[in-house]
Formats: sequence, C-alpha cells, structure tokens
Amino acid sequence: MSEEILEFCDDCGKEFNVNDLSEDGVHFLCKDCFIPLCKQCENPLDKNTDFCSHDCYKKYWAEIIGDEYK
Ligand SMILES: [Zn+2]
Ligand SMILES: [Zn+2]
Repeated sequence: MSEEILEFCDDCGKEFNVNDLSEDGVHFLCKDCFIPLCKQCENPLDKNTDFCSHDCYKKYWAEIIGDEYK
C-alpha cells in the first residue's frame, strides 16, 4: 500500500510527500530546508549527524549518564 500523503514544507511552502519531510515536533520541513542541529550545543550541522564534534558527543552522554547516577 503506497498511499500518498502530502504536506506543505513550513519553510519554502512547497508540497511534498510526507515521507520526504522531516518533522521537528512543530514543523514539517523538506530536505532543502531542514537543518539538523547539534544535540548538545545546537549548532547547525551540514551532515546528517547528531553532533557537531566529538566533544559535544561526549558532553551529551556524560550529562545523561551523570544524571542517572546522582
Ligand atoms: Zn522546504
Ligand atoms: Zn555541538
């Protein structure tokens, strides 16, 4: 079953198949408009990764794991 659900990108306003859009919890954004942010420092990322640097990766997990042991 390949039902096409179309949604508008909240940035450029063009219509896309919902499978091609990224949702950040509030907005639908197409591949051209969606900019991933570093989960630690919220710097924009140009690659499809979660962190801008290995430092941010380490800090992010140190905070999560640190909280669990408090
Ligand atoms: Zn767009
Ligand atoms: Zn970062």
